[in-house]
Amino acid sequence: MPGADYIYPNVTEVTRRGGLLERWGLAEPLGCTYVEIPADFIKNRTEVERTGQDIGSMLTRSSVEQLYRQDAGLPHSLGYLLHTDPGIPRRDHHGRQVKAELRWRDPEWVIALGDMLLEIGDFLGVPPDIIEIHPGDRKNTHADIATGMHTLITAHQNAFGVEPLVLLENHKDQSISTGSQMRAFWATLTELEPGIADLAGIALDPWHLHAATREDFARSLRQIPPEALKAFHIHTDLRPPSVTDNVPWSEVFSVIRGLPGRPYIKPAVYQKSRVTEAVAFCEKMLAAPQVGYAGPQA
Ligand SMILES: [Zn+2]
Repeated sequence: MPGADYIYPNVTEVTRRGGLLERWGLAEPLGCTYVEIPADFIKNRTEVERTGQDIGSMLTRSSVEQLYRQDAGLPHSLGYLLHTDPGIPRRDHHGRQVKAELRWRDPEWVIALGDMLLEIGDFLGVPPDIIEIHPGDRKNTHADIATGMHTLITAHQNAFGVEPLVLLENHKDQSISTGSQMRAFWATLTELEPGIADLAGIALDPWHLHAATREDFARSLRQIPPEALKAFHIHTDLRPPSVTDNVPWSEVFSVIRGLPGRPYIKPAVYQKSRVTEAVAFCEKMLAAPQVGYAGPQA
């Protein structure tokens, strides 16, 4: 399994949510094949002022037109990922905490989310290649999430005639945070929705897995079925990782190198100036199986 496809992360220097071409201009020189486009709900005061919608609302068509930029002449090689709302707390203009609830258990909510993503894809001019979602709290069962993934795939197939990859990201504070939870989720998905097993998967965030499992990290990592692992978010608290981190990156990349398919890697740093360093770290770790360990066997 040589190499990986890189996803250029959502860096803060891009104006508002931006358009595809501006991000592609940053991504292409680094050899990234995809760009990440944020697809959060209304998330800050500026967006409230521009759209007239409340914090945590799903975007209407006119809000999509306010917040994103439409470009002509998109290159055919350009692909993108929609990163949907992570369901984390945000501050409204009174300083109150507002948290958009991820309601996979509610079929109407899932359809409304799908509609919002379709509006974004339609406005940008090309459908997304990948959609990332988050589990939310324990009120969402694994079956609810698997069914929701199927609904999003079908909505895109019906609207655009192409099926995106839909990936579930683990999060330390949400209902799917450990390797055993990811394994249980994948068992439910493949039993309930076998037809989407090739289009669904886990986007593993090792930093979040480490925050949730600590000294049990290596064992927990190995509990995730390799066929479920389709993407990785590589960062150390949103900064470029290093081999001296608490997260045992050699373990992570050993799993990545052993996967049956070519993975997607998103160096999840938020400063433009640090993406090169994060990509270089991944390239080095993908290339070098045994970095310098020559000690005695225990
Ligand atoms: Zn995420």
